[in-house]
Amino acid sequence: MAPGEECSVLVHEAPCLAPPHNNISTVLLVIAMQAEALPLVEALKLSQDDTLVFPKSVPWIKYSGIHDGLHIHIVVPGKDAVLGVDNVGTVSGALVSYAAIQALQPDLLINAGTAGGFKAKGACVGDVFVATEVAYHDRRIPIPIFDKYGVGATKTIPTPKLVEALGLKLGKLSTGNSLDMSPQDEEVIKSNDATIKDMEGAAVAYVANLFSVPAILIKSVTDIIDGGRPTTEEFLENLSMAADALLKTGICVLKFLNGKSIADL
Ligand code: SAH
Repeated sequence: MAPGEECSVLVHEAPCLAPPHNNISTVLLVIAMQAEALPLVEALKLSQDDTLVFPKSVPWIKYSGIHDGLHIHIVVPGKDAVLGVDNVGTVSGALVSYAAIQALQPDLLINAGTAGGFKAKGACVGDVFVATEVAYHDRRIPIPIFDKYGVGATKTIPTPKLVEALGLKLGKLSTGNSLDMSPQDEEVIKSNDATIKDMEGAAVAYVANLFSVPAILIKSVTDIIDGGRPTTEEFLENLSMAADALLKTGICVLKFLNGKSIADL
């Protein structure tokens, strides 16, 4: 869906005969950066209530509320205690996902965030993608079988109706702990056939898989990796626009989920 577009007519009510016990009731959104999460927290009027869920010593934050009949929880890994920046990357993403899944037992996890995109694979700034597959590009282990484990390619759950209703793009996601891209990363990203690149997705999906929680990864493109502009500059310039696209898509996704089961997606 293009930024600025409204979702309305394409979201259909679920058929009355759908068995209610299969319907999605609790949704956990894992979002790495405050700037990506707060517009959604405000729009959904969620309140911060993490004291009973996370240990006192951690910076992780949970916002919760009921919206359109769904119990919605947004968790963010918070800020680094010393440097004050968002705890981006796979370690914090996996840890906060683990703790939140344990505490909240969600029916569905959504990892929403920003990503770099490859124009050669059809990505443009502001596009919102659903990842069809996740893999890592910075876990190089050149020993037979461990090499495959390192890459960790894993398919995500199919969501054809959601993708069609919201006009989202589909592409493979490659995850690593750097915003930039070394030549070695580039080689693996190419062999992963990735259209988008982030710093959390594969790790969050890994934790969801451990607990058999269906996971959807929704990524809004902030920067074009093969476009010739420095990634950091383009990322910072487009972050608020991409967060806005993520907000609009997030609202539409939640509306779409109302009254549906995972099989309806
Ligand atoms: N300088 C930024 C750093 C954010 S790190 C700041 O303002 O704090 C980038 C975040 O956006 C990560 O959560 C990552 O998942 C996502 N991201 C966006 N573009 C990316 C790219 N080209 N490569 C990797 N991650 C990217």
